[in-house]
Amino acid sequence: MILESFPVGLLQCNCTLLGDEQTHEAIVIDPGEEVSRIHGRLTELGLKLKQILITHAHIDHIGGALRLKQLTGAPIFLNENDLPLLKMMEEQASWVGVDTPETAPPDSSLTDGATVGLEHYPAQVLYTPGHTQGSVCLHFVPLKLLIAGDTLFAGSIGRTDLPGGDFRKILTSIHTKLLELPEETIVIPGHGENTTIGREKERNPFLQG
Ligand SMILES: [Zn+2]
Repeated sequence: MILESFPVGLLQCNCTLLGDEQTHEAIVIDPGEEVSRIHGRLTELGLKLKQILITHAHIDHIGGALRLKQLTGAPIFLNENDLPLLKMMEEQASWVGVDTPETAPPDSSLTDGATVGLEHYPAQVLYTPGHTQGSVCLHFVPLKLLIAGDTLFAGSIGRTDLPGGDFRKILTSIHTKLLELPEETIVIPGHGENTTIGREKERNPFLQG
């Protein structure tokens, strides 16, 4: 298995590349920026991209998705409840102060309970609204790995003050969907350091009491 996670772009979104050395297939999660670097890495590793999975439609997570699709032919997956945010790309770009990336509607939705990913490394979609209305986390059950987007961070949770944000919903999502996972589950958040479910359950100040 190839698993690489690296921050991309101005806002340093963690982009994750998961590849299968046997089938030479890969998925990329949240290619927010630096598409040539991501594409170059896929080429170096000799991997064919099968899916582009987006945890939510904020510009720093989805900004490079269409370009990566154009380079590889891989379909884009995004939860349908984030379509309104996708349509606000110009406004999002002005928040950050960057050029507006070209976007297109996703090829497929990421619905709660669906299985995506690779044959040998499947992921279950956990619908976790709150940071945005269409936020999802991807749970690679056999790998004990969670890609959390901007729902859960090491020592923090996603902001809920942007359009579509809902503080109560994010707490409910985390408590009912994420803290129920095995404590040893490794969490790769949308920004910053990795953590585990057990550690956040014990220490995250937003999740106590
Ligand atoms: Zn976000």
